[in-house]
Amino acid sequence: MKLDLLAIAAHPDDVELTCGGTLLKMARRGYKTGILDLTAGEMGTRGTPETRAKEAAKAAKLLSVAWRGTLGVPDSDVQPSRQHKLRMAAVIRELRPKTVILPYWEARHPDHYHASTLGYEGCFLAGLKQLPVEGQPYRPFKILYSTSYATVRPSFVVDITKEFEPRRRAILAFASQFRPPKGQRSKVHLAIDRLEEEMNQLARHYGQMIGVKYGEPFLTKELLQVEDVVEMAVRSI
Ligand SMILES: [Zn+2]
Repeated sequence: MKLDLLAIAAHPDDVELTCGGTLLKMARRGYKTGILDLTAGEMGTRGTPETRAKEAAKAAKLLSVAWRGTLGVPDSDVQPSRQHKLRMAAVIRELRPKTVILPYWEARHPDHYHASTLGYEGCFLAGLKQLPVEGQPYRPFKILYSTSYATVRPSFVVDITKEFEPRRRAILAFASQFRPPKGQRSKVHLAIDRLEEEMNQLARHYGQMIGVKYGEPFLTKELLQVEDVVEMAVRSI
C-alpha cells in the first residue's frame, strides 16, 4: 500500500494525542494516511495487549486511517538499534509515505525521544540501495515533528477545529488505560478527567496561536517556503 502521510510514535494512543486531528483532516482531503505504533503498549498498567489492539483499531477507524501497524519493539525499551532501524526501513519501503510525522526529539519518556531517532534513521536507511532489506529504495520527502507536548515554538499549527470531536473520541477509545474495570471505583476516574482537560487545553492553546479554536503544532527542521505573501493565513493585527 502506498501512503501519503504516515504518523510514527512509540505507543498506541501517542499519535491520537499528538496529531490525530491532522491525520483525520488529511484523510478528509482524500489523502491515504497511516499509523505505525512502534510498540503494542504492553507496559501500560491497565488493559491487556488484546484490549489495546482492539482500542487501536477503533481509534484508527474514527480517524479514517487506511493502514495501522505495529513494529513489534518492546514497550519501555524503544532503542534506535540496527535491528529496529532495518525493520522500520522495510515498513517505509513498503508504505512509501510522502510525508512522515515523528515525535519531537526531546521528551521525558525515553521511548518518545528514541522513537524520534528510530523513525528518522529508519526513513534515511530506507533510501540506501545496499540496505539488506526487501523492497525498492525509498525516502519520504518531508518529515514533520509533532510538538504538542514539547516546550518549543512550533513552525506551524494545523487548524483541527472540525476534527476536534472525532479526535476526542479516538483518544477516549483507549478507555482501558484510563477507566477502572466495571464495578471498581478508584482514582483512575480522575485520570480520564485530567486527560480530557489537558487535551482540550493544549488544542485550545495551539489553536489560539493561529486564531482558531483548536490546533495541533508541528516543527520542521527546514524553513517553510512561501509562494504568495498576499494570501498568507493568520492575522497579524
Ligand atoms: Zn507514549
